Amino acid sequence: MRISVSCSTCEKKFFLKNECATKRDLAHQVGEHFSITCPHCESSHHQHINDTYAEATTRTVLVGTTLWCGALGLLAGPVGGGIGVLVGAYAGYNLGSMEGKKARTYNNSFV
Ligand SMILES: [Zn+2]
Repeated sequence: MRISVSCSTCEKKFFLKNECATKRDLAHQVGEHFSITCPHCESSHHQHINDTYAEATTRTVLVGTTLWCGALGLLAGPVGGGIGVLVGAYAGYNLGSMEGKKARTYNNSFV
């Protein structure tokens, strides 16, 4: 999951590096209002925590676990590789839906 902010000057989206579960968590890290510089147009903004938005990084998780388990399975031969890909895709799918839940939890939380 990553936290995005929309720039009010150039209207492009960029991402915060903070790891947090809810907006309250993020407020503990950066404060309820925080200053941030847009990496696209370099204008600085005062942002409120409630203006941030979480996105699930499902695709990355899915591809990562599929490749990883596929590679592990290949150590056991071609059949193992096939099984590994299936296991990886399944694990990735589950992790992905967990990501979705985490993002929803974040977006439904308010400071
Ligand atoms: Zn901008």
